[in-house]
Amino acid sequence: DAESSEGRIETLDESTVQRIAAGEVVERPASVVKELVENSLDAGASRIKVTVETGGKDGIRVSDDGRGIPEADLPRAVEEHATSKIRDIDDLEAGVGSLGFRGEALSTIGAVSRLTVRSRPQGGTTGAELTVEGGNVGEIQPAGCPEGTTVEVADLFFNTPARKKFLKRDSTEFDHINTVVSQYALANPDVAVTLSHNDRELFGTEGSGSLRSAVLSVYGREVAESMIEIEYSAGEDEPVDSITGLISHPETTRSTRAYLATFVNERYVTASALRGAVVDGYGGQLAVDRYPFAVLFVEVPPTAVDVNVHPRKTEVRFDHEDRVMELIGEAVERTLVDSGLIRSSAPRG
Ligand code: ADP
Ligand code: MG
Repeated sequence: DAESSEGRIETLDESTVQRIAAGEVVERPASVVKELVENSLDAGASRIKVTVETGGKDGIRVSDDGRGIPEADLPRAVEEHATSKIRDIDDLEAGVGSLGFRGEALSTIGAVSRLTVRSRPQGGTTGAELTVEGGNVGEIQPAGCPEGTTVEVADLFFNTPARKKFLKRDSTEFDHINTVVSQYALANPDVAVTLSHNDRELFGTEGSGSLRSAVLSVYGREVAESMIEIEYSAGEDEPVDSITGLISHPETTRSTRAYLATFVNERYVTASALRGAVVDGYGGQLAVDRYPFAVLFVEVPPTAVDVNVHPRKTEVRFDHEDRVMELIGEAVERTLVDSGLIRSSAPRG
């Protein structure tokens, strides 16, 4: 009974462990979308279609035309710690070329939803699907589908009511999804990314490879036309290789930092220090509580950054963080000065 077992140390059962772990990876529908879009990108997709219902609470579907998953590998795809992307810690230390590497996204999503993975490998003649409901893996079924992969997530958090209760209104949850999908669409202008909510298409990028065209599709004409190209190569001994992308005219702003998209070695990173460095570069040219648009790609030597900080992976750790931030601010400032949009501040250093 409760009294006599109190204080005793017991090992948690598998399904409890899974659901606790899931809470760290899957916080809300947008975290599911992020993981699925990353998988599609890692699969080399040139088209990714994201469709969500009611802010992602009732349904999330991500389809791609990537390399697909062979039928025999489907059970492993939804198993914990199973990945095709790294083999050992040395691969991770050397710097991963893929967005995923922990092999835990599909298994944890499957622990807290009804997950269906349907796939047909490139060149394959047939497709197959596998469903996981609250961690219970079903049987592989044949499925008619095009080459590529479709992942469907229904009834997210149906078996973790506490987590479900903390979800916000549909529109708020959708805003988070919109932010995530927008970031990836911008980071991958060579991939055609579309986002629809309740049967309404929000945006669709062309996949032409042009960053400005992607910005036009995601943010509209006014923003696209105000964007200034940034291209900065750091010196030999600096902890940054290059800083490239687009930043907005100091008068094209919004009231949140959500439009400051920063990527480190193509990985989406939300670290507030990075966003702060961009804002610093504007050197007091922004109105109070206004933030610019930016799509900024920071390239650093893979060995100078640790991406293995947090399961949600939007944080990274740099070897010389202060200097990295300084260089970003400098790159932004110089770009604005060169465009005649701001005057140079007092010389740095
Ligand atoms: P990770 O991305 O860290 O490897 P996941 O749980 O997200 O872990 O995915 C497990 C494995 O399933 C991946 O390593 C990959 O081999 C396969 N996979 C998942 N999604 C896709 C997809 N959209 N296309 C092709 N393979 C996929
Ligand atoms: Mg993944």
